[in-house]
Amino acid sequence: MKTILTINNLTKKYGKLTAVSDLSFTIEKGNVYGILGPNGSGKSTTLGIILNVVNKTSGDFQWFNGTTTHQALKKVGAIIERPNFYPYMTAQENLKLVCKIKEVPESKIEEKLKLVGLWERKNDKFKTFSLGMKQRLAISSALLNDPEILILDEPTNGLDPQGIHQIREIIIQIAETGTTILLASHLLDEVEKVCTHVVVLQKGIRLYSGRVDQMVASYGYFEINAEDQSKLTSLLNNHEAFGNISHTKSGVLNVILTQDINAEDVNKYLFENGVIVNHLVKKKESLEEKFLQLTSQQS
Ligand code: ADP
Ligand code: MG
Repeated sequence: MKTILTINNLTKKYGKLTAVSDLSFTIEKGNVYGILGPNGSGKSTTLGIILNVVNKTSGDFQWFNGTTTHQALKKVGAIIERPNFYPYMTAQENLKLVCKIKEVPESKIEEKLKLVGLWERKNDKFKTFSLGMKQRLAISSALLNDPEILILDEPTNGLDPQGIHQIREIIIQIAETGTTILLASHLLDEVEKVCTHVVVLQKGIRLYSGRVDQMVASYGYFEINAEDQSKLTSLLNNHEAFGNISHTKSGVLNVILTQDINAEDVNKYLFENGVIVNHLVKKKESLEEKFLQLTSQQS
């Protein structure tokens, strides 16, 4: 698998506030990644850092196995602000301008406008577009140079249900052509519908990173800890009942179950292999339900 982006222990502080805390994850080619978290959880800050518009405090990230960020960003299409084009120019005229700036042939415009369902509206002025159409035009614009990865920050915010549906369908279509996608969203159902992989953030801390289908699996998870956390982790990694392992703020591990196993059997397995747990609680709900609890406490 080809690695598009590696993020290592990334931290961003605004004064006393830690917006992103020791965040690590990897983006592999061809997948659709969601950064999922409630408002203020550090999603936009993370996107800003990897796009070089926000300065990191510590940690690092690497695009495409080591090219400079400046070079790499030529292969990245990103929409992290409300789409902004010239209001009195048509969709096509706006894209022609983008083609000049990006140095791509204007022949790309038809393909990309068709992809987002705006080819019929190519001669309409930008100012006459609905918010959903503006967002779709922004997506076509970001795709003009056939980027390796498309980055979107809350792509359906503010849209009506039909507009939301259209954008999600377009994202799925783009992914089907092999373009890697990274999107930030506070909507669990959006990530479930569109993404293959997810990084769940709460207050800048990673709660989960892995496949979406594993997150919504319903065997529940364990909170677990031991003095020798690295041995604990490797024992868990070697047992088929355990999936994704993540660190919580309090230092204990969250371990997702991929099959049914009770606390007694977990305790026995670890003890027989030389690890004595000092914390072991089985949580019945899936991480999905836990996420819903987290976000409902927020609002
Ligand atoms: P999200 O995109 O998940 O809603 P953000 O990345 O925008 O979250 O913000 C994460 C945290 O950082 C929030 O508490 C926010 O108030 C804070 N923050 C973001 N940008 C700034 C900034 N420029 N100055 C100070 N604090 C900021
Ligand atoms: Mg945001």
